[in-house]
Amino acid sequence: MKIESLHAHEILDSRGNPTLSVTVMLRSGVTGTASVPSGASTGTHEALELRDGDPKRYHGKGVLRAAANVHRIITPALVGMNVTRQREIDATLIALDGTANKSALGANAILGVSLACAHAAARAKKLPLYAYLRRTYQLPATNYHLPIPTMNVLNGGAHAGWILDFQEFMIVPRQRKFRERVRCGAEVFYELGELLKQKGFSTLKGDEGGYAVPLKTNEDAFKLILLAIKAAGYKPGKEVSLAMDPALSELYNKKTKRYELKREGKTLTAGQMIAMWERWVKTYPIVSLEDGLDQDDWDGWVALTKRLGKKVALVGDDFLVTNAGRLAKAIELGAANTILIKVNQIGTLSETIDAILLAKQFGYKVSVSHRSGETEDTTIADLAVAVNADFIKTGSLSRSERLAKYNRLMEIEEEVT
Ligand code: PGA
Ligand code: ZN
Repeated sequence: MKIESLHAHEILDSRGNPTLSVTVMLRSGVTGTASVPSGASTGTHEALELRDGDPKRYHGKGVLRAAANVHRIITPALVGMNVTRQREIDATLIALDGTANKSALGANAILGVSLACAHAAARAKKLPLYAYLRRTYQLPATNYHLPIPTMNVLNGGAHAGWILDFQEFMIVPRQRKFRERVRCGAEVFYELGELLKQKGFSTLKGDEGGYAVPLKTNEDAFKLILLAIKAAGYKPGKEVSLAMDPALSELYNKKTKRYELKREGKTLTAGQMIAMWERWVKTYPIVSLEDGLDQDDWDGWVALTKRLGKKVALVGDDFLVTNAGRLAKAIELGAANTILIKVNQIGTLSETIDAILLAKQFGYKVSVSHRSGETEDTTIADLAVAVNADFIKTGSLSRSERLAKYNRLMEIEEEVT
């Protein structure tokens, strides 16, 4: 079980940007590999993604410094450690870095190592990753519930050249089996494509594999999606619900304290924004609203939660950044009721698990999420199953870096049921 060596190198993510792939080798010869995702609409409170800033390589986006940190600083500290002691490994990584936001070594370097260790340990123990994670963190559940997928079929915001103000319009298939949820999602996605063609739109796609279409209003997105659900033969609200991530931190003007919806030519206060969400929730079968206000508007979040917290999942992404400290404050204030979990927002597996456990302890729901920049790595699928997450958010029904997660979940379902 002892760690023999670590190797980190640059690979490219789904946008063609460099990211890290890390492999841990054990003395026994067993290896584990993981790669690191990357966001485009990142929250200001996320752990730091270390990039080289060398304009001669990849527009400054290289991650050679992060790779060097793995080889020069992390490796000497980890060699000889027992790979199954994930909490000790992560504590060592956090101490080696020594900063609050992992800016010394880079959260990408740290996360790559943290995840690769879990993969190697699971293999050495001859367990699938989800079962290993459950055992190593002594997670309480004994049964396995596969998550409800929230599938981003229409892309806007920073993921689609600002073709719409709001970033993500999602369908939420709720069939009994995960495999049926995937099928339903794909069938609705085909119908949506057909509808777009009929209306004369192109069917080009955004970063997360959903269509990127210049609709007149943001609300038109849901009108179209409802038509697609019906055309595919499913009942909106019963078999397929809706979810959205307007990613409002991206639209917030700190100076004027207004949300700027440029495509629609509107500027709204937090109060007007909340009123709009109330109307949308009444009009459409929306079950989940992510980052419905700016990441630092604590009062607004409390007000939003009072108004809608009993009806829908109010998901904190940029707002909570997978950070148990921010979550603890939100719990105390009564802000949000669901945490989005992105492993690279915090940088180690153990801190991720701690945020999830705290959320569950206080009745917050858990949604495990990809990033807009992804790789073929499927760790988040196993993580979602390990913790019995309520939701998984991993993009549309196209693009293999998204489908890899759905495919892995279908495989896991066969193993656990
Ligand atoms: P990001 O977006 O990965 O580009 O940050 C995803 C999200 O906002 O949920
Ligand atoms: Zn988000």
